[in-house]
Amino acid sequence: MVQYLLERIIEFFHFGYNGAPNAWDDDEFPWLREADSMVHTKYPYVIHAETNAILNYKGDNKDLEGATVYTTLYPCQNCAKFLAQAGIKRVVYLSNKYEGTVDNDAAATCFNYCNVQCEEFPKELQKKFMVSLLPDEGINLEG
Ligand SMILES: [Zn+2]
Repeated sequence: MVQYLLERIIEFFHFGYNGAPNAWDDDEFPWLREADSMVHTKYPYVIHAETNAILNYKGDNKDLEGATVYTTLYPCQNCAKFLAQAGIKRVVYLSNKYEGTVDNDAAATCFNYCNVQCEEFPKELQKKFMVSLLPDEGINLEG
């Protein structure tokens, strides 16, 4: 049963990750969080996992209509508008640690006007269903 469930998850899920634009060599990408200038940090250039998941999706974009996105953090305002534009209707996140910031408020406003439902993944289930996607370990369910 678990094997079947995992196969279905793998079949239907599409993953994204924080990364540099494809043509930018990872070894030359500025992964720094702090530098003498913001231009030398990762922040102006990194593409967040939510946006990468949409941009790198190779199927029909109509498949994303009404879909649910699972994220580690509540999406930023930039990803929020892309998710809404892609037709995503539900966001389930593990943490909203930036709640109350301007960026977070803008994301929430975007989701509200675009009828995107947001909910925190239940804390009591977080440990039980945490999925590990380490490259050498495959997919492991902990708990
Ligand atoms: Zn983002």
